[in-house]
Amino acid sequence: MAEPIFETEPPGDEDPWRIRVLRGAPAGESDVRIVFRNPGGLRGMLPVRRSRAEVAVKTWMADAVKHERELTLAEAAHYLDQTAKQATANDTESVRRAHAIDLDCPNCLRKRRYHGEIGILLGEKGLMGGVVESSMRPWVQHAYVCQGCGSTLFFADGYLKHPLPGTKRRG
Ligand SMILES: [Zn+2]
Repeated sequence: MAEPIFETEPPGDEDPWRIRVLRGAPAGESDVRIVFRNPGGLRGMLPVRRSRAEVAVKTWMADAVKHERELTLAEAAHYLDQTAKQATANDTESVRRAHAIDLDCPNCLRKRRYHGEIGILLGEKGLMGGVVESSMRPWVQHAYVCQGCGSTLFFADGYLKHPLPGTKRRG
């Protein structure tokens, strides 16, 4: 099951007054929200349901600066459509990449087994020798261990979905 692309307000509503883009936004745009409104006066500042709106206001962060732009409903619909397409394309690419990864141990010619997540605390060489911890938060890795020889493959968290499907056995 793919992760959601949008978060609506009210949650799960077919006719929301706000849509938050969770992923698939164009590069450089983050925290994108589209709020539906009617123009004019104080009333125009209040969000309304999409079906009753006349305009959409898009806000987003880019280069740590908040941007705001008024869109027509057609422009907003097009933007949301493009975002959904991009998110789906990213999913397809992630799945393709995940399937292409070879988990086989080159020593034992068997597939490494998913061991789960492990947290690595990073350190650096201390002045008096030894290793001094330099990070408070662990660096989360997904580990795959060969049950034959113990050789281990690590993948940093946040890139692919784990456990990986692994490659099909050759031959
Ligand atoms: Zn092995």
